[in-house]
Amino acid sequence: MKRNLCDGAIVSATAIVLALSAIGAADAAPRGKPNQIRYEYVPPKDPAHQPIHDQMKQGRALEHLRELLSPLRLPYPLKLKVASCDGVPNAWYGDEAITVCYELLAEIQKNAPKQDLPIGISRADTMLGPALDVFLHETGHAVFHMLDIPVLGREEDAADQFSAYVMLRLGKEEARKMILGAAYGYNVQMPQGPQVTVPVDAFSDEHSLPAQRAYNVLCMAYGADKKMFADIVEKDLLPKKRAESCEYEYEDLTFAMTKLIGPHIDRRVARKFHEVWARTVTARRARLARP
Ligand SMILES: [Zn+2]
Repeated sequence: MKRNLCDGAIVSATAIVLALSAIGAADAAPRGKPNQIRYEYVPPKDPAHQPIHDQMKQGRALEHLRELLSPLRLPYPLKLKVASCDGVPNAWYGDEAITVCYELLAEIQKNAPKQDLPIGISRADTMLGPALDVFLHETGHAVFHMLDIPVLGREEDAADQFSAYVMLRLGKEEARKMILGAAYGYNVQMPQGPQVTVPVDAFSDEHSLPAQRAYNVLCMAYGADKKMFADIVEKDLLPKKRAESCEYEYEDLTFAMTKLIGPHIDRRVARKFHEVWARTVTARRARLARP
């Protein structure tokens, strides 16, 4: 469940609202009910983390995440929490709560570049993207567990896929920023350069290597929208060879999300916040349904 990278969850307001509505096919009778998300800004133990706490609280970061996730029909409440973790930069799901450590958020801040990146994402996006990704990755674990969703393959990869899918349901511009920001967050965890050396036991980790996680999220994005993400292939951020299969990889993800998670999305709640997104996904689903 644990993840080495996390985010600063300072997620901007309306852009994020209710991306989940877009997943809701929701014709099966679901257990649980919507509006089950709770949140808590636990005061940090380390005074150095106070600004992160204050920023998030002022920006209503957890409130926005709650809104984003409120259409999920859950059998019991799920709490989103930021808290101190005795110096360990981590995030996890357990005991009906997602905990994201201030230490992890601080690390994300530290890793941000000094300036905006040439690919068109701002310094802020390089913090917001990884931050949102951490919360959504952990939400993936929570959803699989709370809703008894079967996971074929590695759960850590599935949680990454869940996160990428939800990010891609945001408004186009916002989705691009968050996806590229998240990819940046993974990339900076790797040694830099075309040839890298890592300890061999890094391959035994339950998570994919950071570079793989970056390529995977970019592949989902390219598979979802080749136009909007054309430049990531042109600039070789995503190698052409992998890019060829991304459309099919994304279709598989869409199928799984629609079939397994869709029935647990409350369309009424989702629609209330996100009518436009509901229309978008209906059109997308119709396109996918064509032979
Ligand atoms: Zn995880």
